[in-house]
Amino acid sequence: MPQITPQPGIMEIDLYVGGKSSIAGRDDVLKLSSNENPLGPSPVALDALVAAASGAHRYPSTDHAELRAAIGEVHGLDPERIICGVGSDEVLQFVCQAYAGPGDEIIHTEHGFSMYPILAHMAGATPIKVPERNRVVDVDLVLAAITDRTRVIFITNPGNPTGTILPDGALERLVAAVPEHVIVVLDGAYTEFADGHDGGVTLADTRPNVLMTRTFSKIYGLGGLRIGWGYGAKELIDVLNRIRQPFNLSVVQLAAGEAAVRDQDWVHECARLNADQRARLTGALRQLGIACDDSFGNFVLARFASEAEALAADAALQDDGIIVRRVGGYGFPEGLRITIGDEAMTGRVIAALNRWREGA
Ligand SMILES: *Cc1c(COP(=O)(O)O)cnc(C)c1O
Repeated sequence: MPQITPQPGIMEIDLYVGGKSSIAGRDDVLKLSSNENPLGPSPVALDALVAAASGAHRYPSTDHAELRAAIGEVHGLDPERIICGVGSDEVLQFVCQAYAGPGDEIIHTEHGFSMYPILAHMAGATPIKVPERNRVVDVDLVLAAITDRTRVIFITNPGNPTGTILPDGALERLVAAVPEHVIVVLDGAYTEFADGHDGGVTLADTRPNVLMTRTFSKIYGLGGLRIGWGYGAKELIDVLNRIRQPFNLSVVQLAAGEAAVRDQDWVHECARLNADQRARLTGALRQLGIACDDSFGNFVLARFASEAEALAADAALQDDGIIVRRVGGYGFPEGLRITIGDEAMTGRVIAALNRWREGA
């Protein structure tokens, strides 16, 4: 009897582990483990979400025209070159599925997002991990890893969990040197937190093989709703649309996303709060002798003297009801990634770390 057998690569997938969200016996938990917006979504987006719910018996738009138009207007982009997905994760999945298969290689970097190898395996392709240099993507090492079989390169910029950024010039150099049979995906999940960086828009505008992805999950505070988008050459977007399910986004997602992107005042306010509290937490960590790079995201990677010390700090934070992210799986056993909260939340983290240091 032939047995049922999954496609090549499927059994290589290690399930994605999300940020922890509860501590047994506590109801005052502060969750800073998934880079969520401490202020939540824009009130305007929430209103749109609720209003759209009464139309839930109707099928949603298949082409997302209104959401794409809103994104295009706000960002100054051609809506014809935008594709929307169930989180940006789905757009990343489209790229792997449409352009890579068994025998092909998909490059990601050492501390990159853990979804990349999962998506590569889903397509039956082989994920290739390239080292970073001092927690920053190394353009030359990425270029050196390219082979005839390379189909996709994932670059997270700003990086997660590193928080570091590849300057625009380095990105340009990378893209200019990549052969034309390779797609470069610039994952801009944290672009809005990186003042003065364009998230790869210029490169996606001018290069046929560059796709920029963005999300409503981080600064827009809509991670629970699952909305993301990508921007690239018309030909590339047309290919991705062929494997997109026609009703991938619900009426509620579409309405909330459109209202959220139009409320840029909210985005700016969130970015300002994040920058202030990020500087405050970075300063406090360094004062405590805990190393961290300047972060361009909505989190800071705290690097302790050892894995044991990181574990002890994590335990102390949890004793105070604070959940941060262990990042051993990202190559930082000595690290804890701490999402930036509002003023009170950040104060709580700093106070807990101070108490831990004093007690240690
Ligand atoms: C959070 C995050 C995303 C966004 O995922 P969604 O599917 O849009 O929620 C993408 N890439 C990175 C690196 C992230 O950290």
